[in-house]
Amino acid sequence: MHGMWVTEQAGVAGTAFHVPLTTSFTGELDIPALRTACGRLVARHPILAAAIRDDGALIPSGAPPELIVEGSTVDIPEEIARPFDLSAGPLARFRLVSAEPSRHVLVITAHHLGFDGGSKDILIRDLAALYRGAPLPHVGPSYLEHVAARQTRVDALLAEATTYWSAHWREPDPLLLLPGLRGTPVRAEPGADLAVPVDQRLIQQAAASVGVSVFELLLAAIHILLRRYGNPAPVVAIDVSTRTEQAREQIGLFVNELPVRWAPDGPSVADVARGLRTRLRELYRFREVPLARAVRGLTPRVALAPVSFSYRKSTVEPEFPGVAAAVDWLRFPGSARNALHLHAVDRPDALHMRLQYPPHALHPDAAARIAGHLGTLLGAIAADPGAAVATLPLLPAAERDRLVRRSPVSPAGATLLSAFDAQVRASPQAIAVTGPGGRLSYAALDGSSRRWAHRLRAAGVRRGDRVGIRLPRSLPMVVALFAIARAGGAYVPLDPEYPADRLAFIATDAGLRLTVDQFTVDRLMASPSADGPRLSTPTPDDLAYTIYTSGSTGRPKGVDVCHGALFGLLAAMRDPLGSTARDVWLSLTSLSFDISALELFLPLVTGGRVVLAPETSTRDGTALGELVRAEGVTHVQATPSGWRVLLAGGFHAPTIVAVAGGEALPVPLAAQLRGTVARLVNAYGPTETTIWSTTAEIEPPVTAAPIGTPLANTRAYLLDELLDPAPYGLPGELYLGGAGVARGYHGRPALTAERFVPDPYGPAGGRLYRTGDRVRYAEDGTLEFLGRVDNQVKLRGHRIEPGEVEARLLEHPGVTEAAVVVRGDDDPRLVAYVVSDAAAADLRSHLARTLPAPLVPNAYVALDRMPLTPNGKLDRAALPDPPRPAPVASAPQDRPQPATGLVARIAGIWQEVLRRPDIG
Ligand code: AMP
Ligand code: MG
Repeated sequence: MHGMWVTEQAGVAGTAFHVPLTTSFTGELDIPALRTACGRLVARHPILAAAIRDDGALIPSGAPPELIVEGSTVDIPEEIARPFDLSAGPLARFRLVSAEPSRHVLVITAHHLGFDGGSKDILIRDLAALYRGAPLPHVGPSYLEHVAARQTRVDALLAEATTYWSAHWREPDPLLLLPGLRGTPVRAEPGADLAVPVDQRLIQQAAASVGVSVFELLLAAIHILLRRYGNPAPVVAIDVSTRTEQAREQIGLFVNELPVRWAPDGPSVADVARGLRTRLRELYRFREVPLARAVRGLTPRVALAPVSFSYRKSTVEPEFPGVAAAVDWLRFPGSARNALHLHAVDRPDALHMRLQYPPHALHPDAAARIAGHLGTLLGAIAADPGAAVATLPLLPAAERDRLVRRSPVSPAGATLLSAFDAQVRASPQAIAVTGPGGRLSYAALDGSSRRWAHRLRAAGVRRGDRVGIRLPRSLPMVVALFAIARAGGAYVPLDPEYPADRLAFIATDAGLRLTVDQFTVDRLMASPSADGPRLSTPTPDDLAYTIYTSGSTGRPKGVDVCHGALFGLLAAMRDPLGSTARDVWLSLTSLSFDISALELFLPLVTGGRVVLAPETSTRDGTALGELVRAEGVTHVQATPSGWRVLLAGGFHAPTIVAVAGGEALPVPLAAQLRGTVARLVNAYGPTETTIWSTTAEIEPPVTAAPIGTPLANTRAYLLDELLDPAPYGLPGELYLGGAGVARGYHGRPALTAERFVPDPYGPAGGRLYRTGDRVRYAEDGTLEFLGRVDNQVKLRGHRIEPGEVEARLLEHPGVTEAAVVVRGDDDPRLVAYVVSDAAAADLRSHLARTLPAPLVPNAYVALDRMPLTPNGKLDRAALPDPPRPAPVASAPQDRPQPATGLVARIAGIWQEVLRRPDIG
């Protein structure tokens, strides 16, 4: 009681301690008799007429409460919420709201300081008896005598209770994980409530079969629900009854709120419930001791814990002769004390359970989903209390269906080539590509690619063969891509900037039939036109390209993407990006990033134009801005890191559609970028599901940068370890299905089977790619990217598996152990930790022989041994921070003159890329 009073004094309780009891009467209500009955009721239970002195002691109020009769103008929720003047009293009030002569609602509002759930039963029974003039049992000792006796018992138990709670009380984790919760309320807030369906008979049977009470089984279910939401040892505050046998007839406060912290980790629900029962038995010994007395320094608060549960049995029937009376036993006081309160009243007819919550912190849709989860869980527990905790279903059928719904599938059969051919027929003279070396019409691109395709056939390229392509961004590069496809082959980008060893590895691993490079091009161009056998158009199941990406086990892996997946992506991106025949795309991404395929091919299947950015300008914001204006570019795509460099270089293009993707888009960057372009689309997708899988339109004012919703032909599921959908709002691993799923990793069946799994929710034979990305649904239904479930990192747009770099380090004879991580928030660097006697420079050149530059660590830290977790694994978090790189000291006379013009721009770009101010 003291804690509640302190909370009231602090002014944070709102109406949370108002206990409403409403009774509806239909028929001839004898109002004078009801008024008399109310008076006698107050005389029998003086606590209803009490006030509270400044020191918290109970005293009689000046005026005892009387029944006030009013017309239907009274707003019942307002009446319940009307504040109490605790120092003046009384602690209860009675109002009769008469809508019609034969319909009345009696609204009794008592303050929790002198009232509780059990008092409701006593009040209704006594009031009805007094109304009909029936005898009542003796009330027994006064409420104050009970309070004094309890005080004595509490004092005697205090030392023991203090010991008990020092072992069992821990502040609840402030970060309660509840799907949709936006922060736990610290004061009472306007609340709302809704019903949780419970099958009384089945729950009773289940509880009996396990050997626990209904209350214990329900509390176990709430703990299991919270555990499933990701709270390892949830704390649930429960209302423990302190009513003694002598207080059976007494109205007053006979409950004590106590916390139950419990990790429901038993194998079955039955085990958890029995374990919980044992825990409760221990706690019940101290049931009368207020937690604030046993725990020193407990701050006064409206709720002990963010989740609470009250349960009571109620059997009283309102017997008012001549009128039909119905009591609302679960009437909600109107404010919520915490994030979630479950209120259960076990009546003879049904087990009623309601969930109370603050809509301000928990959206009503989110609350409804939680109620649905608890209902589903309880249904499953009732059906089989022996069920395993970890696999109990949580999601009602409707929510489950929505989370795994299918998206429409576009007409099959089309490919890049069939769609391109249609554009050639429609507007042969339209310009298809503009590049540094000139331009090509659709007809010219078509003709050249056919001629080259015949020669590739003559050189031995057959359907399904992989053909390397190693060309700078140029008109011949575009012709070659189409020629490879027309010859039935799949292109494999060989980035000229990669080390020779890596290119050799890719060539061997991919089994390249041949590589189209500058030399090949010269020969192709030189040879007379050859019209060989008819070229067969690839089908959707034929391979379009193989792109190599970092491999965690040490070897890069080739992702095999078919024409169906590629064209599906082009078709799905066309509408969200509004790409038409009037549009002009800038191509600036290296072929070894799959997103380059969108820049090159989407305009060419929609009748638009591609502008090839010269290799020298792809990081020069000013030059690209000029190119955009000169060529009328409408669409530009880059990674967030790429955009940052372009913006820093003065890129300004207020009319374009900007696509950002490939790594997390920071909100400040999104805001800055959105401010300089006409539209901004955040695109997300792994190479394994073909370029992009989800998109989000980022609108000003930019406060978040979600990854949005799945593209057409793509399904996105957030699943847990058992491939069950994660509840709406909670993090899950993203699994992607649909048209974009790649064939797999070339020549790596085991790895393919690990990452590409059968789709349990889609059409038969469908597959899902496990992205390794942690994602959740935001309230508006869009997906939010949260991070990785593994060690994979993105550094300046490059996908890096630390395991690959570690494997290369371990091949160095001087290295016995290696760990590679990204460190630094605003200036992320790849850092190698080694147990080694080799020099850093030595290690760096060793790595540079086989790894592309972005995979070569910037810093090397030698350790005596690697930090380990208690179970012997590498403790990545415990790796020390690397020393900051010392600025390169340069003597004043060496320092170059301040640069101007192009030199200044180049210096600026390098400063930005290398994040060092000292580059002259
Ligand atoms: P890649 O195969 O190179 O496209 O890399 C795919 C990975 O990059 C994804 O699995 C994500 O981890 C990350 N990624 C791609 N796009 C985004 C994005 N828009 N936001 C956050 N992460 C992204
Ligand atoms: Mg991607």
